[in-house]
Amino acid sequence: MAFAITQTCCNDATCVSVCPVNCIHPTPDEPDFGTTEMLYVDPKSCIDCGACADACPVDAIFPVDSLTESLKPYAGINAAFYADRAPAAAGDPAPNFHAWGPPVFDRDIPSDFAPLDVAVVGTGPAGMYAVEDLLLHTGSRVTLIDRLPVAGGLVRYGVAPDHPSTKKIGETFARFHNHPRLRMRLGVEIGRDVTVDELAAQHDAVIYAVGASSARSLGLPGEDLPGSMAATEVVAWYNGHPDTPADAIDLSAERVVVIGNGNVALDVARILTADPATLEGTTIAPEALARLRSSKVREVVLLARRGPDAAAYTGPELLALAQRKNVDLVVDTHDPEIARAIDTAAEGSKAALLRDVARETVDWSVPPRHENRRIVLRFHSAPLEILGDAQVRGLRVTGDVSIPAGQVIRAVGYRGTPVPGLPFDEETGTIPHTGGRVEGRPGTYVVGWIKRGPSGGIGANRACAHETVGSLLDDAVAGEITATPRRSSVLGKLTRRR
Ligand code: NAP
Repeated sequence: MAFAITQTCCNDATCVSVCPVNCIHPTPDEPDFGTTEMLYVDPKSCIDCGACADACPVDAIFPVDSLTESLKPYAGINAAFYADRAPAAAGDPAPNFHAWGPPVFDRDIPSDFAPLDVAVVGTGPAGMYAVEDLLLHTGSRVTLIDRLPVAGGLVRYGVAPDHPSTKKIGETFARFHNHPRLRMRLGVEIGRDVTVDELAAQHDAVIYAVGASSARSLGLPGEDLPGSMAATEVVAWYNGHPDTPADAIDLSAERVVVIGNGNVALDVARILTADPATLEGTTIAPEALARLRSSKVREVVLLARRGPDAAAYTGPELLALAQRKNVDLVVDTHDPEIARAIDTAAEGSKAALLRDVARETVDWSVPPRHENRRIVLRFHSAPLEILGDAQVRGLRVTGDVSIPAGQVIRAVGYRGTPVPGLPFDEETGTIPHTGGRVEGRPGTYVVGWIKRGPSGGIGANRACAHETVGSLLDDAVAGEITATPRRSSVLGKLTRRR
């Protein structure tokens, strides 16, 4: 028997660091780390100790023989990763046993910092991995700031409510909220309550982990019509974001088209087609659940400009969609190339995951009144125009096909917004930096999506934070940042006054 990693893998490699036999790969020091969709347990080396399952922050690891029906494919998925991988050879990195002995410190932080005083702006995963690094590996004091009155960032307001295991990572982060060297300042917005310069003047260093909170626009004709909206807004709506009204989305149409097929598009399609009873008891906003109960939506179309081999979703998320009961998944085979790509795809590839999915050449003139709600995957279709006069009534796509729909949702990626006082690259929607150091602003750093752009799941932020905190500590050692006089009450006074 062995353990297997399953759908909710966050890739943050906590499991790798506790495995006594080095049987979980890729490890952070291997070249394919960060490029695979998840981490995998080698069933031949696993000694069944369960340390990985205990340490996993998102409850993704189970003994193979206790996998539920929907998770059973993961036994094979874990094993398949090792099929072509060379077995560990003598001289390969040793297993991850911790070498006990005197502590070894990579750097000596100059004593004039006594200790380093760092502000971290943003309480999402990127900010919290930076906080964790600072609190666990240095004696720093941290001021943790968020513009919202509730901490959590994208874990609280981005992860779908039907993914409770993923949301659980919020508990791991929340442990640090009560750390004796951390002070929380919630409801404080940089640029409104305190300026970048004021924050910098009161801390030795400031790390911005402000994410990518706005939506990319496509510039399509009709994009401003009522009934056309961004997926970011839908996600904020079902998660009860304080800036999003309870009636943000109109669910009176039978068909909704989502442009894009990344994991956000899948999240939106899943929630809009879910049986509301299955969402009871989750963290979904009560107003959103009430509206879903009276929703008329029968079909969500996921529109992708490329083919099944180039889908943006990850395999585990597609697999979960295909296994849902009472919601059908259908591939629209309007282009013969689509079926060919699926049928000839290499085993284990994204396109091959669609082999058991139903196929149909959808007739858009027929209203979607099937017995079950359904999700249609339409590949090789780019959006051209959102149709309608006073309200969305459809979408025109390549091939001059019109898909009637009452709601068109753009799930084409998030976008960073500028922080007043910091440089900003309009092209990428990020803050320009080198290794996390903000250009032209010594002592100011970035981490997460505002640094790398809006891609990568929760765990990708761990390595990203490690790089940024490493740059900050190197700068402290090299004298590139200097200790600021302690005036700890100033930030509190300033924000209260404003
Ligand atoms: P994404 O993965 O980058 O997907 C964006 C989608 O928009 C792609 O299908 C892309 O198509 C499409 N698109 C972009 N420009 C377009 C255009 N001009 N016309 C038509 N389609 C266009 O972004 P996301 O879904 O917002 O996700 C962001 C990150 O969060 C991803 O790394 C994702 O995996 C992660 N995430 C993970 C989870 C999870 O693990 N459950 C949940 C949510 C988000 P092309 O591929 O053709 O460009």
